[in-house]
Amino acid sequence: MKIKIFVTCCLGLLSVSCGGQKPAPEAIFQVSTFDALMEGQFDGTTTFGRLKNLGDFGLGTFDKLDGEMICLDGQFYQVKTDGKAYKVKPSMKTPFADVTSFEADQIKSLKELLNYQQVQAYLDEQLPDKDGYYAIKIEGVFRYLRTRSVPAQEPPYPTLTKAIANQVAFEYEQIQGTMVGFRTPEAVQGTSTTGYHFHFISADKSKGGHVLDCVIDDVQIAIDQSDGLKVLPLKK
Ligand SMILES: [Zn+2]
Repeated sequence: MKIKIFVTCCLGLLSVSCGGQKPAPEAIFQVSTFDALMEGQFDGTTTFGRLKNLGDFGLGTFDKLDGEMICLDGQFYQVKTDGKAYKVKPSMKTPFADVTSFEADQIKSLKELLNYQQVQAYLDEQLPDKDGYYAIKIEGVFRYLRTRSVPAQEPPYPTLTKAIANQVAFEYEQIQGTMVGFRTPEAVQGTSTTGYHFHFISADKSKGGHVLDCVIDDVQIAIDQSDGLKVLPLKK
């Protein structure tokens, strides 16, 4: 595996969502709203100890926007701008995250070299309802992967767009791992990210980040249709 690390200055959207209020296994729980994150509300409001009770699968960010969060099989990981994945303590907080209890409704095997856009087009064909909410897990071998993480910010916080201008990107070839993500409909624009949003964690749990680009090679795709989005109140 060849790894290249470089800094980019492009503007991109960091999408994160989480939360809910009462445990409902088929809901996606989102902490805060995407609009609030866009405005620079980066102070953590919800502990990962609480989030753990609401799901075992998800993505998000951390207090001060300190890196990319991946939740897989009930374990939370933090990918910082050194490209490494760290375990997350229950006392740590997030300003924005999405979690759900993952139960696959459909599983597909794909052995094709598809780029990120082609993967999304493939997924669109599999979804029963384009206005629905889905958690999606893509596990296997990736021919190419480009991820990023964002450095911790200090108050007064910038907008998300300005913070992401300082993102650090990572490129991998022939890497094994899991893309963890969601697809949410246009109807929740502003509340959540819309469309597809994926984070990645390597099979050895050592690296990952927010997915910017990929070429899948040999993967299994699991799709879990959710009832909807439940937004956690902005408190502890
Ligand atoms: Zn992200």
